[in-house]
Amino acid sequence: MRSTIYGPVPSRRLGYSLGVDILPFKTCSMDCVYCQLGSGAKTTVRRKEYVPAAAVLAQIRAALAGSRRIDAVTFSGSGEPGLNSGIGKIIRGLKRTTDIPVVVLTNSSCLVSQKGRQEFLAADIVVPSLDAATPRIFQKINRPHASLKVDKIIDGLVRFRREFAGRIWLEIMLVKDVNDGPVHLKKLKEAAARIRPDKVQLNTVVRPPAERSARPLNRAQLEKIRVFFGENAEIIADFKAGGRQADAGHIRQAILAAVRRRPMTVRDMSLSLGRPVEEIRRYADDLVEQGRLDRLRHKKSDYYK
Ligand code: SF4
Repeated sequence: MRSTIYGPVPSRRLGYSLGVDILPFKTCSMDCVYCQLGSGAKTTVRRKEYVPAAAVLAQIRAALAGSRRIDAVTFSGSGEPGLNSGIGKIIRGLKRTTDIPVVVLTNSSCLVSQKGRQEFLAADIVVPSLDAATPRIFQKINRPHASLKVDKIIDGLVRFRREFAGRIWLEIMLVKDVNDGPVHLKKLKEAAARIRPDKVQLNTVVRPPAERSARPLNRAQLEKIRVFFGENAEIIADFKAGGRQADAGHIRQAILAAVRRRPMTVRDMSLSLGRPVEEIRRYADDLVEQGRLDRLRHKKSDYYK
């Protein structure tokens, strides 16, 4: 079975976070314009045990027993983690063996059903996204599966708040000229007031997005929106890398430097650079197309050199 863990990755919000990715590439109920995994994949709401829970648990436990510092275990990666029907089992199993906080990043679509909400109850922190408060903007920014309705998702978040004892950090990804208009922001603020998260976290498009048209807000614009959302809102966008071009350039350079020492698989690079496997694969494949890297097949694995 492929590895489902990566990192630990340094994260401003969570310290050193061990990433857990329990889905095949881009298995998601949405196809957001800002997605770092690219666009065009067919959306799905089908829940199944894409990767067996027992195997995931064994890999996480082995990582926790190692010598690297781990401050949090975070479910995210190749799509919507709630689509793996074993996620509740994995989180509960993990909480029986460690006090390290378990964090789930979700696009909130699974919180519509009671069963979906139950899966996340044993986590310590849930970071649900909510980028839209109207059907029109929901379509425009999240391009969801046809069965998903944004008002049902907001109702699901309100219910989840009542049922969940842990912390909720509601993340709003702001895309220039898509969901940042004053009327829409007012509706989003009203939705957030109903959901009552512990924090509202404002983000923008600082990493390479699926669509070139998905543009970031600048810091001053985000700051104005933070003040509008009130006391429990904070900006989490990481402008430090100098924007998405610098970020992408940095990762490409790091890949080239890593494979100069020896041929590596995407998984090797992901572990060494502390970035998700699929993100590294996209950059490595771009570099192959540009003729800057070679890809070789060896013993059923692809090596880059
Ligand atoms: S950003 Fe997240 S929710 Fe949106 S398509 Fe990508 S994986 Fe799915």
